[in-house]
Amino acid sequence: MAKQQREDYCSFCLRPRSAVEMLITGREANICNDCLEQGLAILREEKERFQKESLETDLTWLKPSAIKSYLDDYIIGQDEAKTTLAVAVYNHYKRVMSPSASKDADEVELEKSNVMLVGETGTGKTLIARTIARMLDVPFCIADATVLTEAGYVGEDVESVLTRLLQAADYQVEKAERGIVFIDEIDKIARKGDNPSLTRDVSGEGVQQGLLKLLEGSVIGVPPQGGRKHPEQKLIQVDTKNILFICGGAFEGIEHRIASRLSRQSIGFSSEERANPQTHNLLQFVTPQDVKSFGLIPELVGRIPVVTHLNPLHAEALRRILTEPKNALIKQYQRLLSIDEKELTIEPEVLDLIVDKAMEYKLGARGLRSLCEAIMKDVMYHAPDSKEKEFVVSLDFAKEQLAKSSFGSAA
Ligand code: ADP
Repeated sequence: MAKQQREDYCSFCLRPRSAVEMLITGREANICNDCLEQGLAILREEKERFQKESLETDLTWLKPSAIKSYLDDYIIGQDEAKTTLAVAVYNHYKRVMSPSASKDADEVELEKSNVMLVGETGTGKTLIARTIARMLDVPFCIADATVLTEAGYVGEDVESVLTRLLQAADYQVEKAERGIVFIDEIDKIARKGDNPSLTRDVSGEGVQQGLLKLLEGSVIGVPPQGGRKHPEQKLIQVDTKNILFICGGAFEGIEHRIASRLSRQSIGFSSEERANPQTHNLLQFVTPQDVKSFGLIPELVGRIPVVTHLNPLHAEALRRILTEPKNALIKQYQRLLSIDEKELTIEPEVLDLIVDKAMEYKLGARGLRSLCEAIMKDVMYHAPDSKEKEFVVSLDFAKEQLAKSSFGSAA
């Protein structure tokens, strides 16, 4: 008589195959559909608990005050921009890290808080964005809006912005999807005039349209090597939902738009202020409305809801930039020489000279480095061979060095 085969059973609830809807059999063990579902529910619960816990710890560390004080170590002044950005970043990562916050139908939906930084060139826009990314330890890239054009024209597709982010994340898509993109010179893609009918505005409004889908959060096909997309190319799918976009621009002349808006509203705004918008730092009143009137399309402005400004840097700020930030220029030169076991002292009058020259040539903070390089070049060249242990840069020496340099011929 043939031996009757024993019926398979679930290794967890021990019910036989005939008593369950489905039994998945493994080499050593089996599992029924009910046990599998139960297991999955436990997994999901555990994962959520873990995410909630890590959200709580991350958010304690990420509080706006903590972000601001980190930024304070590297960026002089610009308190308004630092505070606004700290809050925007905190809210952004709350949204990113909270699994249900942006999905739950019953909950208030947390919208993306992309940020617009309006301020003269060299006032620290890129520096702020870069410093935040370093603090959060997320991939960061800088994209120049001026090289972008609408698909089909000479230039780069807007998707190439994400190529840079992918590169910064070593092509780990998940990592890139939590990164920060700084789009510089966003003001240069403003709509050219009100009448678009004569020629297509391929580098202005066309690019703004292209950026919309990136900024609002959708899945984008990204060419791995950037540049132009072409049909045979394999694209990497990147979801931009949790990517924070920080846009920066000088918006030259926007003060006049702010002035005319304020004068229409005429609250706390004198005719003298209207006549001299530059002298009153009207940027501090900038709103999304002004950015729109500058030529950014309303849909794009709507996707960059946080707008803040950076102040022009005056002599006092430039002086502090030289010595105070954690990686201040002067500290960098001292560190470089200390590797050769030399000590560097720069007399305070030299710092005043550097600031005066930066102001004179209207170089702003960007010029500080070239001025320092011109003054320090000879010291850096001779120090490694020298027996001296201490180097003092005096005012006379600095003036001499500057006179020898391209700054001397410019004067
Ligand atoms: P922007 O993006 O506004 O044109 P950057 O952020 O690139 O200007 O600034 C250029 C350089 O000037 C920075 O790398 C930094 O060395 C210096 N700098 C500018 N603003 C500040 C600031 N507020 N605090 C410290 N350094 C600054």
